[in-house]
Amino acid sequence: MTDHTFEPAYLALYRSGELARRAEQAQAALHACRLCGWDCGIDRAAELGPCRTGTQALVATAYLHMGEERPISAGGGSGAIFFANCDLRCQFCQTFRWNIKGQGQALTARELADLMLDLQARGAANINLVTPTHNTPQILAALALAVEDGLRLPLVWNSGGYDAPQALALLDGVVDIYLPDMKYSDADLARRLSGVRDYPRVNRAAVREMHRQVGDLQLTVDGIAQRGVLVRHLVMPGHAENTAGVLRWLAGNLGPNTYLSLMDQYRPAYRAFAREGINRPLRPDEYARARALALELGLTRLDDSLLLEPHPSQQREAHG
Ligand code: SF4
Repeated sequence: MTDHTFEPAYLALYRSGELARRAEQAQAALHACRLCGWDCGIDRAAELGPCRTGTQALVATAYLHMGEERPISAGGGSGAIFFANCDLRCQFCQTFRWNIKGQGQALTARELADLMLDLQARGAANINLVTPTHNTPQILAALALAVEDGLRLPLVWNSGGYDAPQALALLDGVVDIYLPDMKYSDADLARRLSGVRDYPRVNRAAVREMHRQVGDLQLTVDGIAQRGVLVRHLVMPGHAENTAGVLRWLAGNLGPNTYLSLMDQYRPAYRAFAREGINRPLRPDEYARARALALELGLTRLDDSLLLEPHPSQQREAHG
């Protein structure tokens, strides 16, 4: 049963005028951009950083996604908007044509707002912003227009977890559901496989701040996410210690009520075929060990597929 008393967090900011102020502050952030862990400080109207995105958002695709985690896709499906480019450079990226090659269409704030409203009209349970961090200003500008025209769905911030304080401060009170990756506990592995420095430090600070803003994941009685943090971790072949580090940190810092999506879907893609160690799928025993460790550490709110082979249309797109 849907909770009809629910209203998304951004409505209070809209009524007070704060949402419009945030959108303005976010536009200013484009000219000294420190939205992600790259911490560039550049003017994106004049040059491009590693995210290769200037002042306009590029959208790769948008649709009603039935294959996200159950609390996200329950109901009418998740209204997913996939942004092109990314702040990570994962060697195993499944969506590299969008996230690394940058295939997408430049949208104005008005066009992005209309896309949100269209997904709402088609029955989406939420607006799921996929790989959003480098587009924080463009999203806030579009959101201000969409709310004015009747958007009332919860916002899902579906990021690779490399979000910096500048982005998260702009999103405080705007986002209802944070859906961050925690990919690595090993900074050297993050550098080698995703081309970023300091991933665990940036990522842990981001997840702590997300949790401070919205808390543990809250569900309706029929299991639909309304507010809170849902953490994703993709178990990688041959990297059990990396997974153990993520799980121990989560258990020790966010606690046993953390809703965790422990993903078994790893398959080589993009450049991973040529990289020793990640050029094969995850084995069932590797996933079973990761799952057993999560349970041993008290992380029992698991959203996992128990190694059931997903239908291709049910595949979740990994970031990077
Ligand atoms: S979003 Fe990240 S990579 Fe892009 S310009 Fe800003 S700090 Fe640099």
